Amino acid sequence: MSQQPKTIALRARYLFPVESPVIADGVITIEQGRITAVGENTSGRPPKDLGNVAILPGLVNAHTHLEFSDLAHPLGHPGMALPAWISEVIKHRRGRDEDAQRAIAAGLQESLSFGTTLVGEITTSAYSVYPSLADLPRLIAFRELIGLSQDRIDENVALARQHTEQFTSDESQHPGLSPHAPYTVHPQLLERVVELSSPARVPLAMHLAESREELQLLRDGSGPLRDMLIDLNAWDPTAIPHGARPLDYLRKLAKAERALVIHGNYLDDEEIAYLADRADQMAVVYCPRTHEYFQHAPYRLTEMLQAGVTVALGTDSRASNPDLSVLAEMRAVRRRHPQVSGEDILRMGTLSGAKSLGLADHLGSLQVGKTADLSIVTLPEETGDPHELLWDERAAPRETWIGGRVVFAADPL
Ligand SMILES: [Zn+2]
Repeated sequence: MSQQPKTIALRARYLFPVESPVIADGVITIEQGRITAVGENTSGRPPKDLGNVAILPGLVNAHTHLEFSDLAHPLGHPGMALPAWISEVIKHRRGRDEDAQRAIAAGLQESLSFGTTLVGEITTSAYSVYPSLADLPRLIAFRELIGLSQDRIDENVALARQHTEQFTSDESQHPGLSPHAPYTVHPQLLERVVELSSPARVPLAMHLAESREELQLLRDGSGPLRDMLIDLNAWDPTAIPHGARPLDYLRKLAKAERALVIHGNYLDDEEIAYLADRADQMAVVYCPRTHEYFQHAPYRLTEMLQAGVTVALGTDSRASNPDLSVLAEMRAVRRRHPQVSGEDILRMGTLSGAKSLGLADHLGSLQVGKTADLSIVTLPEETGDPHELLWDERAAPRETWIGGRVVFAADPL
């Protein structure tokens, strides 16, 4: 879209730096795609006044599966059990008559339109599906790996290695690996992928402690997930030792370069403490509206934040969520966890997301020296707490910037 001058100052009703207090009537200066001043205009020119808007760092969606972005509605129905929903997902994948490329492109575009500038994407396609668009959010493409039986370990390790090797040094796209979940990944496959992650310097993302059915399967190898795996001819009764628990998987993931625990809906006290001790290298990705869709037990967000766990936000896919808006996820946190502060909610949707993906040195907050990835949101006219204005349903994404360049602009009202 439009070319910006090399140096520009923007003025907004509120600036949300994330790592420091909100600035009313705030100005930010951007030079050559980087932030050079926060709260003052050092451009040498009058600032461009954007009016009644908030300037936030670009939002971070730490977990999604873009291949489902063409779905008009989530699959299944609210409150359904996870194994039944997974069967719906498999049916949908098998019935799809084209590859997922168009859905992925739609999801990338939708992400930009919601102010998202960095996406943790789980991919089942070759990486080459991404670079065809002119403007993309930054991406960590986590290759999904599935294999519960021992004889699938080698092919998955080869796939993982191939995936990490096909990325160039492009700073906007990075590889990741996603051993899917304890019920689909042999423990030895997980160990092999962990071994790969450090030399390749790639993060891992694993669905973990997602459902009660998963805990049951780990505990004694029984329940609806086992039945589902038997139906799919994918059950290996020797793969999971009896008496296993999510902590066993956290201990393996802790040896990785970096790890994202996707969902963590049923983490216990010991597991929360374990993650808090490793908050620089391990994060939990909470997907509030997907959590709501499956009607899980209340999410232990307050305990996690108080313990010091890094908690990022994800939309998960449109197979369990109506859209890919991180702002809507933050509003869902506000609604479901009224005791959590606005500052903490915004941090989850920005800086903690960047940290979870290993990019917080450059992204995730408005700090001098960081890259100018911005989400500019039109606010309601009322006065009030600045964070509450953001959570108001009328607050709407207006522009998205990546590296100091406008990559999305809403139609003027
Ligand atoms: Zn997922």
